[in-house]
Amino acid sequence: MIHILVVEDEPSLCQLLLNNLGYEGYSVETAGDGVPALAAHAARRADLIVLDLMLPQLDGFEVLRLLREGKDDVPVLLLTARGEEVDRLKGLSLGADDYLVKPFSVLELIARVKAILRRTRPVDRPPLLRSGPFRFDLPRLEARRDGKPLELTPREFRLLEILITHAGRTHSRKELLQLAWEPDARPSARTVDVHIANLRKKLGEEQGKPWITTVGGEGYRWITPVETEPGPPPVSS
Ligand code: CA
Repeated sequence: MIHILVVEDEPSLCQLLLNNLGYEGYSVETAGDGVPALAAHAARRADLIVLDLMLPQLDGFEVLRLLREGKDDVPVLLLTARGEEVDRLKGLSLGADDYLVKPFSVLELIARVKAILRRTRPVDRPPLLRSGPFRFDLPRLEARRDGKPLELTPREFRLLEILITHAGRTHSRKELLQLAWEPDARPSARTVDVHIANLRKKLGEEQGKPWITTVGGEGYRWITPVETEPGPPPVSS
């Protein structure tokens, strides 16, 4: 299981990252400052570190510098404040793999995490998923029906990804809002319904029934069984 260390001193953001990365199937540990972060990484080596630059005592630059000085090449995704281009350049020159500027969307963070892991752990490339007439290549954000690509927006793809990777499980609108929208967006539950309706149109129907099932007043689920098949060989860089 891929292990991610989140180093962030803002408790609400830390919790949000913990929830969302955990939901993606990663094992996640958090630390609120540089020293406990290095201790956690020494105790259990992370496959990727999400590292906030501004920390109370030992800041992100120092953590990154200590890691690289110790010849530790663990992939690092930096979180930087808005407009601090100097910080980003410094972080990259110190050996960070990528950076995100706050405030960022959770979707963006997950996409960056996946991209870094794909580069650094190509053998872990997830398999393709098949369900009914559909075939999904999650890392490439591709969905096909009977071989024909579906034109989905990133949000629609994210909703679909949540449903198919947890087939059979009902997701409430609130859950979908938390998983597929950024925390400061605060859309209403109705927004979820609108996006699901658009997604259903694009997926088409099966004998007059939508592929995404409405579960009473509870929410939505994907009931068609999902199978995996080996993915294509990793793209060499
Ligand atoms: Ca901070």
